[in-house]
Amino acid sequence: RQSLHIRGIRCRRRRKFSSSMHRLEDQMEIRNIAIIAHVDHGKTTLVDALLKQSGSFRENQHVADRAMDSNDLERERGITILAKCTSVVWKDSRINIIDTPGHADFGGEVERILSMVDGAIILVDAAEGALPQTKFVLGKALARGIRPIVVVNKIDRSDARPDEVHEEIFDLFASLGADEHQLDFPMLYASGRQGWADLELDGPKKDLSPLFDLVLRHVPTPNVDKDAPFGMVATILESDNFLGRILTGRIDQGRAKVNMPVRVLRPDGTVVETGRLTKLLSFRGLDRVPVDEAEAGDIVAVAGLSEATIPDTIADPSISEPLPSRPVDPPTLSMTFRINDGPLGGREGKKVTSRQIRDRLFKETEGNVAIKVTESPESEAFEVAGRGELQLGVLIEQMRREGFELTIGRPRVLFRENEETGDREEPFEEVLVDVDEPYSGVVVEKMSLRKGVMQDMRPSGGGKVRLTFLIPSRGLIGYHGEFLTDTRGTGLMNRLFHGYLPYVGTIEGRRNGSLISAEDGQTTQYALFALQDRGTMFVDAGEKIYTGMILGEHSRENDLDINAVREKKLTNMRASGKDEALLLTPPRRMSLEQAIAYIEDDELVEVTPSAIRIRKRYLDPNERKRASKSRES
Ligand code: GDP
Repeated sequence: RQSLHIRGIRCRRRRKFSSSMHRLEDQMEIRNIAIIAHVDHGKTTLVDALLKQSGSFRENQHVADRAMDSNDLERERGITILAKCTSVVWKDSRINIIDTPGHADFGGEVERILSMVDGAIILVDAAEGALPQTKFVLGKALARGIRPIVVVNKIDRSDARPDEVHEEIFDLFASLGADEHQLDFPMLYASGRQGWADLELDGPKKDLSPLFDLVLRHVPTPNVDKDAPFGMVATILESDNFLGRILTGRIDQGRAKVNMPVRVLRPDGTVVETGRLTKLLSFRGLDRVPVDEAEAGDIVAVAGLSEATIPDTIADPSISEPLPSRPVDPPTLSMTFRINDGPLGGREGKKVTSRQIRDRLFKETEGNVAIKVTESPESEAFEVAGRGELQLGVLIEQMRREGFELTIGRPRVLFRENEETGDREEPFEEVLVDVDEPYSGVVVEKMSLRKGVMQDMRPSGGGKVRLTFLIPSRGLIGYHGEFLTDTRGTGLMNRLFHGYLPYVGTIEGRRNGSLISAEDGQTTQYALFALQDRGTMFVDAGEKIYTGMILGEHSRENDLDINAVREKKLTNMRASGKDEALLLTPPRRMSLEQAIAYIEDDELVEVTPSAIRIRKRYLDPNERKRASKSRES
């Protein structure tokens, strides 16, 4: 029972049994459900327990703990970036459970994922209650007419307050516009950790069969035509070293057979390619296993195509019209990723060449449709376009952890020219904000400074309000951090691409000038102390710095060159070590996203596995002067 692990795909070597077993499973009824939960409310634990208790596992098969979220970054940021599918068998049915993304920059993906399911489990921690992060996805699910099942989880907690939480969920549904049927949701009390779910609080607490049974009763089987010619919409794209492009989606009609010829259609009807389904994989537990055939309603992954992407239709060649799909939101923002050519370059990371950066970026585009990479006119640099600074920030953070060093340029919004009118247009976003009522004023004020226009404002239960804005994507750059500060970390913001609209003019965003190091060396307490009243420092005493590095924000508008490495003149005593009299204000430390949003056009963020620094593009003061003169003229 060796298992071969190829980037998340485990192909088990038990072919002998597999074909007969899979034939049986092919005849099973299917249910497709999404699981919607706030991070830490117990999704992974519950799915593990479902896997263990369902018939889909053999005794000696290993259930990896923490099945669903594998990515560290996702956990830390409390988000799910990639949707994943797990499949469990119960009685005569197979239940495909799809994880939903909860990230602010991935609104369009949520809708695509939800288009594959007919039901949803809303999982809520019995002590914490319904948290607003799940609102966006839940709202989308309700709008699609899905009738969710509510699971109040972690009932074993001593601070569980199931009745109140039940009421909160009801209010939440109501505030999201749930209809009568949706408001009449079935609810279970559960402890995923102890492996039980019950309809009543004082139930037998035996196992999860009440949840399995409820899913079979409550969630409709997919409404599909199994006798039509084969057709599916590609919903998730991955790249695999072994199989190449893998596209996952729900079979909307007909049957897929391994090796069948298919045609791929863009949403506009263009034929992208014709080819064969060389591999057909169906979900079994946490694995995907090769099958010979799959029918409408099932969620499958296919390989063998070289051009198909999201949300193309993959279909029998007799089909000439694409199936309905939700378009991928276009990239609205671009950043330049360069090599780290600063004086400290290559000391902190292992992957530093432009070749390595290039390979990594192009690899990313193979599995991430929201990102586009092109060669930059600048040497040793690449233009990376995506859906927002948060999304690109996640990519940079991932690369950093893989050992890369990079310098990142200021994000630029992707403008375009209207073909008919010739007007300059810019991308707009619809932004949904959930905040405690007292903070709504500051949010409205900040959004309008950034040219956002409020479309709607309504109470959303629990003393919160939900605000809807239409705002140029440009206006959102750097706002997320400010938003969190303004709302004491309690606010929530989701964005959805709205469309291109005429350019709305400059947005006042000018910050003060920079305090720039005029020396290489190590900062001293003595020097920093003397510089404190010049502005806010980003560095502490004893840090390695270099000429052209930005050490702080000037209290005035202009840039200022400073000496932060100066030592106290030697008197009769050695002036090293800490000088108690010279107390420094703690420096302002910026996160990656803050730094990226902070820089001006002539500045860069230097990112290495161990540091985030801000620097001038031209480190040498003379070169800098020349460059700024040529910009002015
Ligand atoms: P996820 O982030 O939603 O996938 O949540 P996890 O399954 O990783 O669980 C988050 C935390 O809650 C972990 O520390 C779990 O041990 C704990 N947890 C999960 N289920 C239960 C439960 O039923 N009862 C209690 N008391 N804790 C649980």
